[in-house]
Amino acid sequence: MHESCGIFGVYSPEEDVARLTFFGLFALQHRGQESAGIATADGTKIRLHRGMGRVANIFTEENLKPLTGHIAIGHNRYSTSGSSNPTNSQPILVGNDGVQLAIAHNGNLVNATYLYKELVDQGYVFHGSTDSEVIANLILSAPGKDMAEKIRYTMRRLQGAYSIVIITPTELYALRDPLGVRPICIGKVDGGLAIASETCGLDHIGASFIREIEPDEIVKIDKKGLHSYPGDSKQRGLCIFEYIYFARPDSVINGKLLYPTRLAMGAGLAREYPIDGDIVMGVPDSANAAATGYARESGIPVVDGLVKNRYVGRTFIEPDQRMRDLGVRLKFNPLPQVLDGERCVVVDDSIVRGTTTPSIVKLLRKAGAKEIHVRICAPPIKFPCYFGVDMATKQELIAAQKSVPEICKFIGADSLGYLSVEGLIKAVGLPREKFCLACFTGEYPIPVQLEMDKLALETMGAGKPKEACDAMEDK
Ligand code: SF4
Repeated sequence: MHESCGIFGVYSPEEDVARLTFFGLFALQHRGQESAGIATADGTKIRLHRGMGRVANIFTEENLKPLTGHIAIGHNRYSTSGSSNPTNSQPILVGNDGVQLAIAHNGNLVNATYLYKELVDQGYVFHGSTDSEVIANLILSAPGKDMAEKIRYTMRRLQGAYSIVIITPTELYALRDPLGVRPICIGKVDGGLAIASETCGLDHIGASFIREIEPDEIVKIDKKGLHSYPGDSKQRGLCIFEYIYFARPDSVINGKLLYPTRLAMGAGLAREYPIDGDIVMGVPDSANAAATGYARESGIPVVDGLVKNRYVGRTFIEPDQRMRDLGVRLKFNPLPQVLDGERCVVVDDSIVRGTTTPSIVKLLRKAGAKEIHVRICAPPIKFPCYFGVDMATKQELIAAQKSVPEICKFIGADSLGYLSVEGLIKAVGLPREKFCLACFTGEYPIPVQLEMDKLALETMGAGKPKEACDAMEDK
């Protein structure tokens, strides 16, 4: 399962803001690895550099140097709206004679196609095919005496998940949707302020955490400091998967450090699904903390049964068919000396499509494991996500198609247990009303379409000249 993006912003006349943004994005790389970009502003002009791949592959001393100024934003992308291509990478720069802005967005709109059509009818030409470009153009076209008013007007028209950073030539803005689906926080750096998707993005640049941006809040940072424009939304819907998997264990969300929360998920699993086992192991790296929690609660020792190649996915060389057939082997190597003859409790964060878990079980059996008992830190995922996670249709979700005993058989395990919704909420330790749990319960915090298409805007002609859009509409 993948997330939609990581965002970062900084306003500081005392810092090399492009370099700071590079390292902020570097710390947030886990939130998206398809493309990345940085935009800077110096009081008169916005400069931009974007590319495909990870930040370390895209940026060099040479292309960072021209990114001058005292304001910057950056973006790591995992595509959930529009194809993965250079035009859809972010930040997205838009402008007309009066206003110029660059935007970096984490989340997904559920009404993007409607808003896109409206903008095309007004004569806006789209260079890419993302909902983020829809938001950027909506802000451009919005009424309002200043940028904060334009953003507020735009927010009233957006439905879905969005944590966003924006720069104009003179100001930095950050905003969060009325439900607060994706995290975003503010920190202090020398001579200024920084914004990051997660607190780990602040830690790595030496910034100190100030607070989270509230749902429905707009924040403006300029030479006079921070200005807050609170919203009036009372409903909350933070994605619970930030606690299970997306965010890093060293990040703090809603005042909770994620590492102990993941320990508590593992302990909850041990209480709900105890088993006689010899060893407990996590599927590295995201389930390691939960495996430790399971081990502490059950008294079964925790071991490293799989070693992960941390550099997998960091090459542009495609594996050939024979290597593709090896499947997870490219990513994980089992330790037969640890596994041989043992009854293994294997803790993982989630089963989405059911494509990876059977290969892991097979790999462990081949390495000598006598029994394999799979324990999952999340309840069964039965409903699609429309808020920026790449699980858009019910058909692709194994728990929407099969019962738990059927999934157990399918993955080849001796037993299978999923943490309950109640167990998950108890582990997080905050009221259930604060969260979106829709992929488990089907209760979406806002109305959604039954099926959403990641490439919907492309199908409607986005990223093509206006004549092409008109021609497609004529058909
Ligand atoms: S549907 Fe699931 S993955 Fe999507 S925002 Fe809600 S909790 Fe997160």
